[in-house]
Amino acid sequence: MSIPFQNEPFQNFALPETKQKMQSAIAAVASQLGQTYPFVVNGETIPTTTEIVSTNPANPSQVIGRHAEALPEHVDHAVETAQAAFASWSKVPSPERVALLRRAAQLIRDRHFEFCAWLSWEVGKNFAEADADVGETIDFLEFYALEAEKLAAATTPIQYPGETNKLRYIPLGVGAVIPPWNFPLAIMAGMTAASIVTGNTVVLKPSPDAPTIAARFLALMHEAGLPKGVVTLAIGGPEFGSALVEHKKVRFIAFTGSKKVGLHIHEQAAKTQPGQHFIKRTILELGGKDAILVDASADLDAAVEGVAVSAFGFSGQKCSACSRAIVDASIYDEFLTRLTARVKTIQSGPPTENFYGGTVINQAAHDRVLSYIEIARAEGRILTGGHAIDTPEKGLYIAPTVVADIKPTSRIAQEEVFGPLLAVIKSTSFDEALDIVNDTEYGLTGAIYSQTPEHLERARHEFHVGNLYLNRKCTGAMVGAHPFGGFNMSGTDSKAGGPDYLLLFTQAKSVAEKL
Ligand code: GLU
Repeated sequence: MSIPFQNEPFQNFALPETKQKMQSAIAAVASQLGQTYPFVVNGETIPTTTEIVSTNPANPSQVIGRHAEALPEHVDHAVETAQAAFASWSKVPSPERVALLRRAAQLIRDRHFEFCAWLSWEVGKNFAEADADVGETIDFLEFYALEAEKLAAATTPIQYPGETNKLRYIPLGVGAVIPPWNFPLAIMAGMTAASIVTGNTVVLKPSPDAPTIAARFLALMHEAGLPKGVVTLAIGGPEFGSALVEHKKVRFIAFTGSKKVGLHIHEQAAKTQPGQHFIKRTILELGGKDAILVDASADLDAAVEGVAVSAFGFSGQKCSACSRAIVDASIYDEFLTRLTARVKTIQSGPPTENFYGGTVINQAAHDRVLSYIEIARAEGRILTGGHAIDTPEKGLYIAPTVVADIKPTSRIAQEEVFGPLLAVIKSTSFDEALDIVNDTEYGLTGAIYSQTPEHLERARHEFHVGNLYLNRKCTGAMVGAHPFGGFNMSGTDSKAGGPDYLLLFTQAKSVAEKL
């Protein structure tokens, strides 16, 4: 009997007791910052000489965790360990693997605020953003548990006369799971859970910007009963990642991150290594240049709010974030006035104190966003923001920035910034607006605000994105309800949290027996 799925409810931080729980967790986790985490393969600590140190983006001198660094020379041992574990893990009955995910989901639910606090300290999420990340993690674990049950029960649609026909979905082998730092719990756990619930084993290489959350998650998985060797956590840099992707025994790569790295992985995976016995599979979720189309008939209050939160939630550091607002000329000035006023209400400060406006992840991101702001200044009219915010702790803050009068072909309208910078573009007709929306190499998320049914209907067909939202924000996909993944350079449209996702981690075997 399968357990029905329900999205994990959001916490209401307006309730004093909920806020209090979060503040207590922030304080409790503060006392655990700066610990050292070893590199463990198959239960054994590997001696290393270098470490990756993760820091608090709101106070870069504060160390969150020190992690023994996995180097390219360790790849072979990690992959061979995963290969050895595959022999037994792939034979574990599906219900046992499903039960593991459900136990892990419950353990995270029990420690919801603690995980929120780690997210706040390590990557700079405010309370609601951290809550959404933790909730989505629980959702992925429980949703993939349910989907794995369905997959285990699947068979051929037709029985051929005189035979018994079966179709089974068997695992692929060893996977490289390479998640991003922006949903360092949900996406990391989701890609790992999908891999192992279908019987694969994993070398998990999280982002060097969010290693501690991954280490905490893996410890919890072991507590939930994950056997050693099934997931090897390797905190490494790009050279480690590259050597991992190239390894001849890595059968698939699940990656979420930038277009540049994703395309490189795709290319590397396509090259057959000496002794490689299969064609590698890539499951890629890459960037976006996501647009919100604000039609002449839009409910302006709703549109302003939707654009503001889609552009500036978690400082725009979501591949789903709105980075282009395409606004009809008839309401353009009014929209800009209201949007500017709304964005000016955003206060920036430490995420652990629950400010809405926050930091970007690291110094390189800070430099990159500031250089894009200079491009924006040259290409358009800055209405608010346009600068870093200095603090005594040297936090990596950037003021939420709106730039208007941007041309659809300009750099600010075409290149992913991944920060708190929104370009506003004027359109003179609905047709032109749709053309602008689709004039991008990406195709991840998008939204339209309109009260014209024909326009909504046209958007359904002509707005070319993997996740389209009508009259709501373009971030915050919910597992199961909004299977998530994009078109074109946004990736392989591998819909995370969707009914087809687990299939990507399997291969189908047809068995026919003559009666
Ligand atoms: N799934 C997230 C959302 O809908 C975005 C994930 C990402 O940024 O990679 O907002």
